[in-house]
Amino acid sequence: MTSRPVLNRRLAEFGTTIFAEMSALALTTGSINLGQGFPDTDGPEEIREAAVRALRDGRGNQYPPGPGVPELRTAVAAHQERFYGLGYDPDREVLVTAGATEAIAASLLALVEPGDEVIALEPYYDSYAASIAMAGGTRVPVTLRPHEGSFRLDLDELRDAVTPRTRLLLVNTPHNPTGTVLTRAELAEIAKLAVERDLLVVTDEVYEHLVFDDAEHLPLATFPGMRERTVSIGSAGKTFSFTGWKVGWVTSTAELVTAVRSAKQFLTYVASGPFQYAVADALRMPDSYFEEFRADMRAKRDLLAGGLEQAGFKVFRSAGTYFITTDIRPLSESDGFAFCRSLPERAGVVAIPNAVFYDHREHGAPFVRFAFCKRTGVLEEAASRLKTLAP
Ligand SMILES: *Cc1c(COP(=O)(O)O)cnc(C)c1O
Repeated sequence: MTSRPVLNRRLAEFGTTIFAEMSALALTTGSINLGQGFPDTDGPEEIREAAVRALRDGRGNQYPPGPGVPELRTAVAAHQERFYGLGYDPDREVLVTAGATEAIAASLLALVEPGDEVIALEPYYDSYAASIAMAGGTRVPVTLRPHEGSFRLDLDELRDAVTPRTRLLLVNTPHNPTGTVLTRAELAEIAKLAVERDLLVVTDEVYEHLVFDDAEHLPLATFPGMRERTVSIGSAGKTFSFTGWKVGWVTSTAELVTAVRSAKQFLTYVASGPFQYAVADALRMPDSYFEEFRADMRAKRDLLAGGLEQAGFKVFRSAGTYFITTDIRPLSESDGFAFCRSLPERAGVVAIPNAVFYDHREHGAPFVRFAFCKRTGVLEEAASRLKTLAP
């Protein structure tokens, strides 16, 4: 070891994540882990079989093409057309990545100059801050605030956050961890601002198919003036319950896709060869798959939300994603960190303090996130354990 810190200054604040700490705690206490968002059942059998077939038939076992296999790029373009009426050229406007995580990192590395400001909705997915930092950008959080039972964007605050140094808006809808789905009116305002101030927009849409009740996912790229300035990101992990496969994609203009690819080619170059073929099949599944998946997840959301309410939490309405955000103050608690560190001992359940997703940690202090992408029996058991907290 040298006498100087080995982790560089850009990454010093990102040493370890709360997920590792909480998952370790889940193991040592035998707790139900509702911390990290991954399903405990795998995606469709026929898609797994498609991956096995690709592997057996020798498709994707060697480096696939840099932009992704043509079958998948064509399927991604067809998916964007089928669900949103967005036309993309599979050869020039689609890029396959190692999950959405790489798509986010490559987009920021490609599009951000050192010193550029990047606006992100706070609380934000943890890789955003690290990717902005690796790109040498400055993150400017705009906080979603509780308002009538859900977390909302203050459009004036967003407008005020834009400066002459702002280069890019990083938008996530459906939003992790709050479960907020931005409305048509909110998205229209974001689009107007981006056009007015000539900003690039990166949209993380990994939960595009997980929207509930009357919420609707509207890609920013469908708004006037946005297709040419928006990098849209999707992923098979969340949509098909294969988070281990790490197949994601970018759709945008040829110019932006080429730029993102310039960074991506020196990160992983390529990944997930045989899985790319299987995901191409998955994206072509009939509407019934997407409808049943959504209905199933909505039922899970309702089950966990009911349990959390009975246990005494204030539950924010989750209109999308895998997650429910709660307020612990009705339980006479105010520090989400302390609460989450004690919850495994007290109730045998692991959750994540939302404060880890904030720069302004004080804004997130009383909020705690639970994942509901688990089997019904697991959620029932968690709900029954949490009841012991009820005041
Ligand atoms: C899970 C998640 C990702 C990462 O997706 P991968 O395809 O697994 O890399 C990105 N953004 C959000 C908001 C997520 O919840």
